[in-house]
Amino acid sequence: MNAPTTILHVDMDAFFASVEQRDRPELRGKPVIVGGDPTKRGVVAAASYEARKFGVHSAMPTREAHRRCPDAIFVRGRMNVYKSVSRQVFAIFEDVTPMVQPVSVDEAFLDVTGALHLWGNDPVRIAEHIRTRIRKEVQLTASVGIAPNKFLAKLASDMNKPDGYTVVPRDAEAIRAFLAPLPVGRIWGVGKKTGDKLAGHGIHTIRDLQAANPKELTAWFGEHAARHLLALSQGLDDRPVHDREPEKSMSSEHTFGEDQTDPTVWRRILLEQSEEVGRRLRKAGLWSGCIHLKVRNDKFQTRTRQQTLAVPTRQDLEIYHAALALLEKTAPDRPIRLLGVGASHLTDTPVIPGPAQLDLFADTPPAQASDPAVLDRVIDQLRERYGDKAVQRAALARKPEEKE
Ligand SMILES: [Mg+2]
Repeated sequence: MNAPTTILHVDMDAFFASVEQRDRPELRGKPVIVGGDPTKRGVVAAASYEARKFGVHSAMPTREAHRRCPDAIFVRGRMNVYKSVSRQVFAIFEDVTPMVQPVSVDEAFLDVTGALHLWGNDPVRIAEHIRTRIRKEVQLTASVGIAPNKFLAKLASDMNKPDGYTVVPRDAEAIRAFLAPLPVGRIWGVGKKTGDKLAGHGIHTIRDLQAANPKELTAWFGEHAARHLLALSQGLDDRPVHDREPEKSMSSEHTFGEDQTDPTVWRRILLEQSEEVGRRLRKAGLWSGCIHLKVRNDKFQTRTRQQTLAVPTRQDLEIYHAALALLEKTAPDRPIRLLGVGASHLTDTPVIPGPAQLDLFADTPPAQASDPAVLDRVIDQLRERYGDKAVQRAALARKPEEKE
């Protein structure tokens, strides 16, 4: 009998601040802010629950935190200590299941589906086992969300914080009801801009989104984003837990048969490479936050350049435009022997939790045939069916102002 997919999201409570309170008893029960000196520039790395009562949260400028909570005790972070505690906690996770995907030093997704039978098919027993071991072995508390998928598990771990757990129902109707009262901002990928835009259309809660007209949503946000929003509003999310280290980077390189001096050829190759990198990102369910370019000339001089993106991407043309800008920066003055496009800073969850959450849909144009995300998907499908050369994006290889 197959056990139903069961994901835990385990999140340490106010991790850095709790470690400080654990190691320095005089800080217990006090508002503690990890993040250096309030008179200097910087941001809060973590705040104890006592400090959070004053509206202090991570990523807030330390000066603002000091203004809101003048009695707070500021301490400098001890990253080495946090990392070593983190290793202890992850060792506990890995005793339960090999399917552990770290989200950060203090949180992880665990796919416990295969372990359920050892626990009387009761995931709460697993969650409580983990929480008990963490309390005993590192004297800290963690909160756990238990759910059929990652999106719901992460939402749930936040609901009985600190030192609690929440079980999300399995039944589709019950999941809808569970999500309905939450603000749309709780949906994975919805940041401030998208939240404001939804509010402008009268959509404030997930209930509003569940009742929204898919055609209208598509007109406002584009097909890709509309589909994503509707699926998540129903609690549907099929991202797997990556049990091994996800790939760190992807790249595509090409050595010319003959050294090339023609910029049109360079650009065509860059486009092909960008498409290949984009296709591999989409296939792996990843986004890239940094695009790389490698250029080698006929003298075997190699230059590499990279560009960090404001918002992670997996769209061919966004990758291409970043690579092209990098090529223009290198201003090649000799024939080119090798070109390569790469992508790093890969993530399957392009969301920074809390106030700094990235907005996946902010600048999504309305749906149309030229919607890049739609186009990428169509091209992927055609190539899968008819081979790599089935579709060429030749016209797009030229810059808009260029005519041939
Ligand atoms: Mg945490």
